[in-house]
Amino acid sequence: MEPVVGAEQGIWKEECGVCGILCLDGQDAAPLAHVALYALQHRGQESAGIASSRGGAMHLHRGMGLVAQVFDQARIARLPGPAAIGHVRYATMGSARLENAQPFVASSPWGPVAIAHNGNLINAPALRAELEARGAQFAATTDSEMIAHLIARAPADDLEDAIGDCMRRIEGAYTVAVLAGGRLFGFSDAHAIRPLVVGRGPGFWALASETCALDHLGAEFVCDVEAGQLVALEAAGLRTWQVLPSSRQAHCVFEYIYFARPDTVLRGRNVHQARRRMGRVLAREHPVAADVVVAVPDSGTSAAMGFAEVTGIPFEVGLIKNRYIGRTFIQPDQASRDFGVRLKLNPNVEAIAGRRVVLVDDSIVRGTTSGRIVGLLRSAGAAEVHVRISSPPIRHACYYGIDTSSRGELIAARIDVEAIRRQIDADSLGYLSQDGLVEAVGLPRQRLCMACLDGRYPTRLPTEAEAGRSALEAFAAAPAGGQP
Ligand code: SF4
Repeated sequence: MEPVVGAEQGIWKEECGVCGILCLDGQDAAPLAHVALYALQHRGQESAGIASSRGGAMHLHRGMGLVAQVFDQARIARLPGPAAIGHVRYATMGSARLENAQPFVASSPWGPVAIAHNGNLINAPALRAELEARGAQFAATTDSEMIAHLIARAPADDLEDAIGDCMRRIEGAYTVAVLAGGRLFGFSDAHAIRPLVVGRGPGFWALASETCALDHLGAEFVCDVEAGQLVALEAAGLRTWQVLPSSRQAHCVFEYIYFARPDTVLRGRNVHQARRRMGRVLAREHPVAADVVVAVPDSGTSAAMGFAEVTGIPFEVGLIKNRYIGRTFIQPDQASRDFGVRLKLNPNVEAIAGRRVVLVDDSIVRGTTSGRIVGLLRSAGAAEVHVRISSPPIRHACYYGIDTSSRGELIAARIDVEAIRRQIDADSLGYLSQDGLVEAVGLPRQRLCMACLDGRYPTRLPTEAEAGRSALEAFAAAPAGGQP
């Protein structure tokens, strides 16, 4: 999947990344949180933020843009304290604006509580109405801010109970880092839909969405935060509470297909190797006579390598990605979207001209970007273009932190594979099967969320009013305490 160019980016983007650091030697934690956020940048580029704490004082800085645009050394130096949490955001609920940037901070009986959330709550409007009726003031239009208020207003005697109470109230997908009273916590929803790991470095504890952040910090992986668990990272060690009854685990399979960084290890599986296996199984399921295997960079690269290994067709660098476009290039109309593809990807004519090309990508969302890339290859002289997709067709919406907008925009929900082939103008089209995907990931199917592929959601389905990134926007216009 090409995340930046074309229309597809409008409905299928990365989600968010969270981190937390507790320095045991009294050093400031913000410089380490800063490093972790760089490692998690692929999970969200719209905003970044760090909250740090020393004793009862909380320091916060958030801004729009990339980590490098939001923070410099002077900013980091103004975030003192041995405990910190950080966040990079892509908006899945609430629009992209500064008030919606995380971490969020709320006042509580235990001092300021800061939270950083990855995921999506499916009961957000009802909780927001209830909290506003109880006097909570919201600055943002995201579900995440409610988590801070629920902890702050929980009928509990201590922080652990307050967080546990919050976990029992919220529904959906959430991994959360919490900073309060100089203490660092992490917790996960009842199905562990999104990843969260604990690491230990020299003189510090770390929490992060992905193990690649631990690598950059020089920390060792300690454990995953399991479904329904709350963990406290403390000088004396790690404390764990099973707050929610253990039910079916449902780790998002698209973390393996697309979202996570290839060097991350998710539930014991290296993401690059899992993608490579997807390519191998795909080659077995949809072989084709061709001269070169070309990846859509970078997301299709690992699967293309696997495809080439099994078929013996040489892997070629047939598309070059310009990494310096960023998200500032806005494509308001068809003509500039086409120009966006040209700006972002350039065919390597030498590798393509006169050849039968297998083009490997990780998914097709709307089909528009895939069609443009096939067109690029043809214009570079490809004799044939055979598209191979290392995921099954996406036929259902995601309500767990991935912005898939409405089901009607998903091409595979509307038309069959042959019609998609015609629409993207490929000579042939093959998708990885659901069984093939499970085999490649290497986890039992019952431990995976594949809801956008098979329609089997691990939670109840949200109502129309609860779903979508603008579910809370109406509250912004309503008087405090009033329903939108
Ligand atoms: S519905 Fe799809 S994208 Fe969403 S959490 Fe489940 S597997 Fe991941």
